[in-house]
Amino acid sequence: MYDVIILGGGPAGLSAAIYTGRAWLKTLILESAVVGGNAAIADQIDNYPGFPFGILGGELMENFRKQAERFGAEIRMEEVVHIANSPEGKKVTTSEGEYLARTLIITTGAKRRELDVAGEQEFLGRGVSYCATCDGAFFRGYPVAVVGGGESAVKEALFLADIASKVYLIHRREEFRASPESVDKLMKNEKIECKFNRVVKRIEGDTVMRRLVLQDVHSDAEEVLEAEGLFVSIGLVAAADFIQGFINTENGYIVTDEHMQTSAEGIFAAGDIRVKHTRQIATAVGDGAQAGMAVTEYLKE
Ligand code: NAP
Repeated sequence: MYDVIILGGGPAGLSAAIYTGRAWLKTLILESAVVGGNAAIADQIDNYPGFPFGILGGELMENFRKQAERFGAEIRMEEVVHIANSPEGKKVTTSEGEYLARTLIITTGAKRRELDVAGEQEFLGRGVSYCATCDGAFFRGYPVAVVGGGESAVKEALFLADIASKVYLIHRREEFRASPESVDKLMKNEKIECKFNRVVKRIEGDTVMRRLVLQDVHSDAEEVLEAEGLFVSIGLVAAADFIQGFINTENGYIVTDEHMQTSAEGIFAAGDIRVKHTRQIATAVGDGAQAGMAVTEYLKE
């Protein structure tokens, strides 16, 4: 029996574990993919305080992991498939087995939204990717495209410009959601060509992706773009399919109060998986710290 099981090992989960570990609570973190979550596969992070010249996402998250483990957190690489209340406690079912805890903190965050166009699934891993830092190196010297207009898409385009022969950035509007600093770098980069007011209509190829068919959102005119890779970066969707009903959610995101308590007693949530306005590493850390302290107080009572 654990005092607390933290579902998800990203910035919120690791921060929560630092607090519960320091309170001597027996803490287990369950992570399905990468310790550090989306932040661990980010390239340069310039807006996390304490690093005046920026830090690589992987390095920052490795520090978080070491700090959580220093205070006793146990980390297991297992996917959570179900959670339930049982007479013995909160029961967590994973791909490998079952665990019991007195409390849970859900920090499973958000995953990349899919485009939902023809060819996306067919060419997944054969041209289509959701992570430039993971897969960009396969496209050295080839033309690629990025779709999206947020901070992630602009950062991915800038990252790929150092690798690919040419980068097309496809955005359905003319204004970006990305920070002015990133947009300025983008506009100055001669290897990046912006394709505004266009959407990806379909992805074509043979054994691998070869081209994209774009559509102008105003005129409906189609255009063919020769590209060997497409990096889909169109925002995030909640990653908590295992909740299945008994915790209040909105569009898949978990509703909490300011102490990170969910609608289910003894179950807390923190970070990007919460209904909230801003999804940043810094805000996830704040949530995680709050959830760790709230669990500590709850167990004392
Ligand atoms: P985002 O800010 O939600 O932007 C998503 C972009 O994709 C928008 O430009 C949107 O277009 C476009 N889009 C959405 N659905 C689409 C569709 N079906 N077809 C075509 N385009 C579509 O997502 P994000 O860039 O992944 O960022 C998520 C959060 O992480 C944000 O809060 C961001 O600030 C943060 N972030 C921070 C950093 C950092 O270094 N600090 C890095 C990356 C991300 P519209 O603009 O027309 O809606």
